Amino acid sequence: MIRERTVGETSKFIDVLTENLGVIEISVKGCKKINSKNCASTQLFAYSKFCLKKRKDMYYINSAEPINIFYSLRTDLQKISLASYLSELVLYVIGSDGYEGNILKLFLNTLYFISNGKRPLELLKSIFEVRFMSEIGLMPNVFTCSNCSEYVNEGAYFIIHDGIILCEQCYSVNTDGVIKKISPSVLCALRHIILSEYNKLYNFKLSKESQRLLSDVTEQYVIIHLEKNFNTLNFYKSIV
Ligand SMILES: [Zn+2]
Repeated sequence: MIRERTVGETSKFIDVLTENLGVIEISVKGCKKINSKNCASTQLFAYSKFCLKKRKDMYYINSAEPINIFYSLRTDLQKISLASYLSELVLYVIGSDGYEGNILKLFLNTLYFISNGKRPLELLKSIFEVRFMSEIGLMPNVFTCSNCSEYVNEGAYFIIHDGIILCEQCYSVNTDGVIKKISPSVLCALRHIILSEYNKLYNFKLSKESQRLLSDVTEQYVIIHLEKNFNTLNFYKSIV
């Protein structure tokens, strides 16, 4: 569950990211009552199994069962702020058109690591940003130089608007657009995030300095390619 809107005293609408229906809106009645059986399942960021009925264009809950409510997320402002930013990205891009893909898996795995505190939040943010953009068809080409087509092993220049890299030889100071010089370790991290299997996606480390550079590059990539400034990102950055 990635967003909620309260209606009256006891009801709310929730937006739920599903495996193959995209984001759907569900009407939840009586969720504020003490001991409401749907209460835990319909909390923000809860991962739940829903049995739904559809009337007109609205879904209603027949039954719901929480699978993971990511409890430790709720007690940490930085964690919940990052999760809110990731939700805003999903809500902005994924509609209810029956999106097929790995977005739910990516979102859940990232929430899991945000929640358990075993990976730096800054790294998780970059992993989500790059993999999310790749999943929705906006994968940058960070493998070969877009000018000479050589595989780049050294550092490179990332031309963020075009989603391409130039090698040191092909880059010139006259190249246009938002350009970030990226080190070999940041380049390697970007490639790993794009290509890795999901079970290895989160298994790498970067120095603090590289992590900061990666984070800067990945969020610029998101902002420029989705043409949107995310308030939740600004808030997250204001508190870390
Ligand atoms: Zn080149």
